[in-house]
Amino acid sequence: MANEKPIQSGKSSGGTASSFIAKSSIKAADLDHRRKINFNISRYNSVVPIGKQQFANLATAREQAKTLKWEAIGQLDKMLEEFELNFSKRGGKVLWAETADDALKEILSICQRVNCKNVVKSKSMVTEEIHLNAFLEKNGIESIESDLGEYIQQLDGESPYHIVTPAMHKSKEDVARLFANKLGTEPNLNPEQLTQVARHMLRQKYVQAEVGITGANFLIAGSGSIAVTENEGNARLSCGYPNVHIAIVGIEKVIPSLSDLGLFWPLLATYGTGQNVTVYNSIVSGPRQKNEVDGPTEMYVILLDNGRTELLAEPNSREALYCIRCGSCLNACPVYKNIGGHAYETTYSGPIGKVITPWLKGMHQYKHLSYASSLCGNCTEVCPVRINLHELLLDNRHESVVRGESGLSERLAWKTWKFASMHRGLMNSGSGSLKNKVVNGLFKKWSEHHAPLDFAPKTFNEQWKERMKNLAKNPTPES
Ligand code: SF4
Repeated sequence: MANEKPIQSGKSSGGTASSFIAKSSIKAADLDHRRKINFNISRYNSVVPIGKQQFANLATAREQAKTLKWEAIGQLDKMLEEFELNFSKRGGKVLWAETADDALKEILSICQRVNCKNVVKSKSMVTEEIHLNAFLEKNGIESIESDLGEYIQQLDGESPYHIVTPAMHKSKEDVARLFANKLGTEPNLNPEQLTQVARHMLRQKYVQAEVGITGANFLIAGSGSIAVTENEGNARLSCGYPNVHIAIVGIEKVIPSLSDLGLFWPLLATYGTGQNVTVYNSIVSGPRQKNEVDGPTEMYVILLDNGRTELLAEPNSREALYCIRCGSCLNACPVYKNIGGHAYETTYSGPIGKVITPWLKGMHQYKHLSYASSLCGNCTEVCPVRINLHELLLDNRHESVVRGESGLSERLAWKTWKFASMHRGLMNSGSGSLKNKVVNGLFKKWSEHHAPLDFAPKTFNEQWKERMKNLAKNPTPES
């Protein structure tokens, strides 16, 4: 029998440019880490093309999804009010949270009112965003992750590594060792046995929990429902077993109507995990009704802003609110594949994380993320709702410069560059190797993480003059 020990919540941490660079440098050189990531992403890459086959015209489906999200985000205020009106009709209560603190206060107040000591939780990036587990623990409430990947991460005291596959960086041997250390199981259990151990632990938690907390993949304005997508059935149990269900959802998750799920469910499944449709898709429209025999007696939906309206106010960047959190851009990103999910020190990592975090958590502290990209555009290529991610990274960079966030050395570098470019004589003076010495010496910081600048031996101006001279000597014969 496994022996349960207390579980530590994932720690919240604030990222800085220097710790991002330090952590990235370590991870990029960690070959074992790269092997595990490449293995898991290669499995993802092999199944996604199979999922895509279900679409008669994938390009049109993606375009339609983008248009629907454009429509929903374009009238977000009306859509959310429509959601509230319809959800309330069936006895649910909508709570509006402008900040993470507002959301936490609402959750605590509900938990205290029903004398809750145990919460069972399903996977939700929004609850990671507000650091819910740590907060509940501080207030004497045990909060257990019921998604297997999240449970593994919680057991290990780590935050999720990936928005869809939280324990992607762990091999099955790593998980067996973790269970042995924390739960006292045999150290060489196989994945099926490990799943059984987690299952056994978690089943008891559903029975004990007074409150179930979930996120939602979609808020459906037309019917006042939330839609929850998962593969393990744990979210369904978290919604339906405890007496109180709280769903905490980012305001951008809204879609106009139930029929839109016919498009979004297969897109999310295909781009998230390569499935045609995920195993469990639940639509929840309120607490237990008079004629129903089960379900919670109270249901709340907390609509979280937490910086999203900052994005909404930006005509270009608001497109990032179309994201359906499929994780596809993370799997496609050469930077993510090298440095992994934790180096970012943010809830949302990879390309979408780099785009939205400076808006959600502050341009000053997180602007460096927008520079950690090769701008290859692979993220944009693979996004099911066709968000122009790599261009939004450029917009972020522009925004940080406009706000005066660029450092002195960067401003100096560009001033020098501009001055030299506008003075042809200066550009032509000195050989390429001399320029390499001077410029790379001056901008040492640049070459710490990039190949050094390499000037051509002759300037364009010099080459052009030579070419003209040669042409004058040997004009090309007319054809
Ligand atoms: S930005 Fe696009 S690819 Fe990335 S997680 Fe969101 S929907 Fe998926």
